[in-house]
Amino acid sequence: MHELSVCRALLRQINQIAEEHLADDIKVIRLKIGPLAGIDSELLRRAFPLVSHGTAAQHATLEITSVPATIFCNDCEKKSDVVNINQLTCPHCNSTTTQLLSGDEMTLDSVILGQQSGTEERYVH
Ligand SMILES: [Zn+2]
Repeated sequence: MHELSVCRALLRQINQIAEEHLADDIKVIRLKIGPLAGIDSELLRRAFPLVSHGTAAQHATLEITSVPATIFCNDCEKKSDVVNINQLTCPHCNSTTTQLLSGDEMTLDSVILGQQSGTEERYVH
């Protein structure tokens, strides 16, 4: 499962952030995933407990937001949201010379860190 390795890489990144902030408990992880990222958010949710077990993130809540893919048209120079991800044509002029601006990435939007011993929480963007 490809999502397992995605999850591992993500956790490495988050655990590093937690270490930098001297937090030992990760409360919330907010992710943004584009439709062309090739990541199934359901599989990612299922992979998460397997990978986070025994780490500071094991009780974390995973919040996943889907972001729309957007393209820029080289012909009419307009930006638009992609409706059909298999077809990146410009909806304004039907041009196929478009470039993908967003939608093929998974980004870590923010995390909420805390301490197992206390209630202090920190929001890291
Ligand atoms: Zn166009």
